[in-house]
Amino acid sequence: MQDLPRTEYLQSTKTYDCDLAIVGGGVVGATLAAALADSGLSVTIVEANTLEAAAARERGYALSPLSGQIFEGIGVWERIFPYIGKYHHIYLSDADSPRLVKFEPTDLGTEFLGYVGEHRILLRALQDFINTECEAVQWLCPARLTQVTYQTDGAVIELDVAGHPQRLRSRLVVGADGPRSGVRESADISTWGWKYWQSCLTFMITHESPRNDIAFERFWPDGPMGVLPLAGNRYHIVWTAPHAEAKALQTLDEAQFLSELEYYTGGFLGKLQLTSDRLVFPVQLLQSRNYVRHRVALVGDAAHRCHPVAGQGLNLGIRDAAALAQILSEAHLRGEDIGDLKILKRYERWRKVENLAILGFTDFLDRMFSNNWWPIVQFRRLGLWFLRNVPLCKVLALKFMTGFWGRRPALSQIKATPPAVKA
Ligand SMILES: Cc1cc2nc3c(=O)[nH]c(=O)nc-3n(C[C@H](O)[C@H](O)[C@H](O)COP(=O)(O)OP(=O)(O)OC[C@H]3O[C@@H](n4cnc5c(N)ncnc54)[C@H](O)[C@@H]3O)c2cc1C
Repeated sequence: MQDLPRTEYLQSTKTYDCDLAIVGGGVVGATLAAALADSGLSVTIVEANTLEAAAARERGYALSPLSGQIFEGIGVWERIFPYIGKYHHIYLSDADSPRLVKFEPTDLGTEFLGYVGEHRILLRALQDFINTECEAVQWLCPARLTQVTYQTDGAVIELDVAGHPQRLRSRLVVGADGPRSGVRESADISTWGWKYWQSCLTFMITHESPRNDIAFERFWPDGPMGVLPLAGNRYHIVWTAPHAEAKALQTLDEAQFLSELEYYTGGFLGKLQLTSDRLVFPVQLLQSRNYVRHRVALVGDAAHRCHPVAGQGLNLGIRDAAALAQILSEAHLRGEDIGDLKILKRYERWRKVENLAILGFTDFLDRMFSNNWWPIVQFRRLGLWFLRNVPLCKVLALKFMTGFWGRRPALSQIKATPPAVKA
């Protein structure tokens, strides 16, 4: 990947003005900025870390084909696709039951059922794209938002840049600053939700088996386990368990840990080797009561957070970014004020209900499967029977999980121009 030549660090005396300030340069914030490349809007991304530190997170994400299509529409996909895992099959199983529900590409009509991208690959590609292809986008980093004052015609963003206070004025502020969003707080937007009794243990492994194109979701009574193929005979594992158990697994002696893992993955992957730290994250569901207010909009985890089962969170954030970029570009083209509440409400109407449906679905999945009460066990077995035996149920479930049932952003329908063939 190329170096990042256009990173701008704030000078202590400089004041920036822009149409749009995106607070948070994670994958969602950077996707929004990249999606606005041709909009004619000037964009500043405020990120608390350096670009390198922001991209350094050790996590892999299951990406749906729709997220891939959005990246393709933006023009960044060719910088991502060669470096990520791709899977043709998804196998669901109730603990170690041999009755698998098998999803295949023909169920969706796409070449792959999904991808698995590491955070650093995705974010470096987006940073690189912004720095080389997006003239109207600039970075302010490391710069931390401290406060926002909303006015009739704009917003004043107070920043802390290496201990120096700075000010940035923009027509619209977008909170892409994650679950503890300062933008959300500054706009006095409340949230609802709950913490789960579970945490997720995440890590990466290499495996012996030559097969690397199957994503597994194995539902154990303590919590689901996502086994996601990365490029190069590696898997990213998201193992959900009650808090204390997840902590114990984190510190378990490595040989013992791998033998537990071999049992829990059903031995499909042959001999395993741990290639990363084991990290633990508590799991939470969160939905903002509003996604927008006058001069402010929330995207990604700043707006919502869901259980990692079925790998939905980032995919929702990418769809938020594509939807908001579309609404803002169209409004700007018509000469409308992009910070006007009536424009921003179009984005909220589009995204809030769809996200809520997925939040509900992931919560339902986790409660149904992390449960050994006899009537619930019978109910979920019936559900799995339908998925195995009624093709329509399988297709609908897959479309729902991949975002193809909802309104698709225009960006997802733009095909990348194939590279010119030299004579
Ligand atoms: C264990 C686990 C596994 C997961 N697996 C998947 C998966 O397989 N697939 C999937 O789709 N999703 C998955 N998710 C969800 C996914 O991680 C999140 O939805 C996604 O990272 C949210 O991205 P974001 O850009 O909105 O927020 P973040 O990644 O949190 O980025 C926020 C950015 O804002 C910056 N920031 C914060 N505060 C400030 C401030 N005051 N000033 C300036 N900058 C600031 C931060 O430095 C950061 O760069 C998983 C989550 C967990 C916990």
